[in-house]
Amino acid sequence: MLDSYALLERLCNTPGIPGFEDEVREVIAEIVKPFADAMRVDALGNLIVTRRGRSPFRLMLDAHMDEIGFMVQYIDEQGFIRFTPMGGWDPRLLLSHLLTILTRDRQRVEGVIGTVPPHILKPGDREKVVQVEEMFLDVGATSRQEVAEMGVRVGDPIVIHYPFRRIGKDTVMGKALDDRAGCAVMIKTLEALQGADVDATIYAAFVVSEERGLIGARTAAFQIEPDMAIALEGTVGADMPGVPAPRQPTGLGKGPAITVADGGFIVPRRMVQALEGTAEREGIPYQIKVPPYGGTDASAIHQSRGGVFSGVVSVPCRYIHSPLSTCRLSDFDNTWKLLAAFCKAATTVK
Ligand SMILES: [Zn+2]
Repeated sequence: MLDSYALLERLCNTPGIPGFEDEVREVIAEIVKPFADAMRVDALGNLIVTRRGRSPFRLMLDAHMDEIGFMVQYIDEQGFIRFTPMGGWDPRLLLSHLLTILTRDRQRVEGVIGTVPPHILKPGDREKVVQVEEMFLDVGATSRQEVAEMGVRVGDPIVIHYPFRRIGKDTVMGKALDDRAGCAVMIKTLEALQGADVDATIYAAFVVSEERGLIGARTAAFQIEPDMAIALEGTVGADMPGVPAPRQPTGLGKGPAITVADGGFIVPRRMVQALEGTAEREGIPYQIKVPPYGGTDASAIHQSRGGVFSGVVSVPCRYIHSPLSTCRLSDFDNTWKLLAAFCKAATTVK
């Protein structure tokens, strides 16, 4: 059995910003191979894994491989690098963090996001949020030439990278839990279904470029033509000081989050009830996600072709879209257990 911690660690530590998912896709393909009846990579880079059931009923599972990151935009005479965001960053969270540039020959070049020292700031500037355009990356070079010799070129992808680790008893911390947590849920689900009698034929789509506009999910859904779809996410856990209860989409330790509505999608009530019913039957704790913030791949999938009956299940994660996010291993395990049970019953959902 795949160890949940080790699986999340490997997926989170692998880089893959939108459009540059090759490395994480290779890792996922290697791990899922034993559970797959067929695998293919499409023109955009989506990895679609088929697990045949007794019937032709097509159940699409979706998780996005990409993580938010940056791209090298400009290298100046002194060797400082300007970078542009790829995905939704909050600039307040970026200064002084460590970044890794991934060069064309797969070298890793580390640098720090530099900023003007507080001693030199003009009065009033300390209260201002420094925008990404004003930041630079310092890789220890002294000239443009030296940066070039490190193998860095304009257009290279950049990730924030703090190695995955455990904090407390049940909590893990790392980059990219959005959405490597969802990718890991799909992998554990496929593993759990090994040898099981399942009616539905499952298409597990590990898709590209969610963070740039749900791109991979849209084309994957078109190809698969699913009868039903579930998007898996690492979603906003906001059970923390400063957030009143009605504004907390989910909390940690309360089990998988079943979405009722988000910013892009109202989940059909019978899908919500089917997921709740599965959790109750299996004795799995769950929570309902209501506040209509954000969106997921399901926003694109449910509008594919003539429309797809869809749902969203998420692992609650604190601090997503920041350099480090956290989640509970128990929530993660309960999410794949819920999903595996749902896959077995999918064709009976009325
Ligand atoms: Zn996501």
